[in-house]
Amino acid sequence: MEFLNGTTVSAWIAQAGIWPLIVVLVPNLMFRRYGQAAVKKRMASLLQAIAVFVITTLAAFVMERELTDLVLFIGILIVAVALYILRDKVFPYRLSCPECGVRLDFRTIYFMDDHLCVDCRARKMDSEEADSVPGEYEVVDSEAGDAESGDTDDSGDSDRMDGSED
Ligand SMILES: [Zn+2]
Repeated sequence: MEFLNGTTVSAWIAQAGIWPLIVVLVPNLMFRRYGQAAVKKRMASLLQAIAVFVITTLAAFVMERELTDLVLFIGILIVAVALYILRDKVFPYRLSCPECGVRLDFRTIYFMDDHLCVDCRARKMDSEEADSVPGEYEVVDSEAGDAESGDTDDSGDSDRMDGSED
């Protein structure tokens, strides 16, 4: 158990500074453009970043206070248990499409909550568009409505025509 009394691992993690955290946070910024389609994956990425932050901070703490790797390993164990308990939230990844079983590309695995392959998502989008207008268009509509509220005679006319058909 001699290695637990050293600081080899803590020193190795601590010398990396905040780089491990930057590496896990940069992909997190890329989630912005996927919006509501990637809420769960974004949360997973954030939880992973928190785990990395806790471990790198603990390694720095061990070096600063001249503690040993034992403290670091206890911390890693606690983080590992927490990740295991939250595993559905931290690792919500699937390697294959739930609809057709085809192997997914990295972008879909890492970002998309629905895990669908390109073909199945296109098919699903088609059927959803037939049922309802996607949320994206609703936002655009309301903004346009405010701007042109003065001269939207068309919509008003059509409403009136519906009521006074006789
Ligand atoms: Zn598919």
